[in-house]
Amino acid sequence: MKKVAIGFITLLVVLLVVLAGIAGVSLSTQVGQNFLLNRIAALFVREGATALPDSESLRVFVCGSASPLGVTDRAQACIAVLTPEHFFIVDSGAGSTDNLNRGRLPMARLQGIFITHFHSDHIAELYEVNLNSWVQGRTEQLVVYGPEGVERVTEAVNEGYALDREYRVAHHGEALLKPVLGELVPETLEPGVVFDDGALKITLYTGDHPPIVPAAGYRFDYQGRSVVISGDSLVTDETRRIVAGADLLLHDALSESIVSTLSGAAGEAGLDRISKVMSDVMDYHASTTSLVTLADSTNVDMVALYHLVPAPVNSVIEKIFESGLPSNYLLADDGMWFELPLGSDDIVVAGP
Ligand SMILES: [Zn+2]
Ligand SMILES: [Zn+2]
Repeated sequence: MKKVAIGFITLLVVLLVVLAGIAGVSLSTQVGQNFLLNRIAALFVREGATALPDSESLRVFVCGSASPLGVTDRAQACIAVLTPEHFFIVDSGAGSTDNLNRGRLPMARLQGIFITHFHSDHIAELYEVNLNSWVQGRTEQLVVYGPEGVERVTEAVNEGYALDREYRVAHHGEALLKPVLGELVPETLEPGVVFDDGALKITLYTGDHPPIVPAAGYRFDYQGRSVVISGDSLVTDETRRIVAGADLLLHDALSESIVSTLSGAAGEAGLDRISKVMSDVMDYHASTTSLVTLADSTNVDMVALYHLVPAPVNSVIEKIFESGLPSNYLLADDGMWFELPLGSDDIVVAGP
């Protein structure tokens, strides 16, 4: 038996060496390169053309789970919410457009971006999302919803990228890129129900992210299923009110032990500016401790922590971040899906 296993491994190694040799030779010739390029291009196009499978559920996609603190491969704040008839995203932090494309989200039917507040890590890719969905064939103007201030930000983005839009229309033609569809449309919101078409209801609630005022969070209710997305906020009575009875909560989260340790280490190393920034952020994000307390006072089914402060750099830090969290809590990651089937209490978590 042992001899058979050794024989098989030897054969496998020889085979891999031969294949590596063939690949090496192929790559060093024009014919080989053309052959491989054609194969890769065909795979790439087929992958890109494969639409996300349809679903009757309320679906939530994590297109960005990081905060600005820490060096990470994760994108900054972005959560997508889809139903069979709707597609919105909440915030569009740096790197989030790539994740939307990797997740094969149907960008041509994107309806709007809900902004929680105007920190850069929540608005950095407003135009990238706009451009991407415009190129992919969106047929209506993209609406940027947000609290007071959204008009100023949106108009600045429109003006800042006016030349980009002109270049692209001139290059590809108005038939492909209808100019008006390249301009974002701001819509200022007040707390309360801000969207209701009979199937989907979206409610803006007030967050607590001092000194940033206003700061908003959003609750989506679709056919008996619900998700709350916090943006950046401490846990408050308003959080407890809006979360009551919700299926899923995505909340920004700060690990006090990790951030205070990092701040102390930076101070000891003489990096006083970094140390101060780290200690400053501790007073305007929800600590994991406060989020655990939230679970005691509400009946939310699942809590996914995102906008992680800091985004864990490895599995050790991830474990420390998670320590003390109840079993219905998890750390969100880029590319993660939550599927909430209608007529059920289930939440199916998939990926990345
Ligand atoms: Zn913020
Ligand atoms: Zn933030």
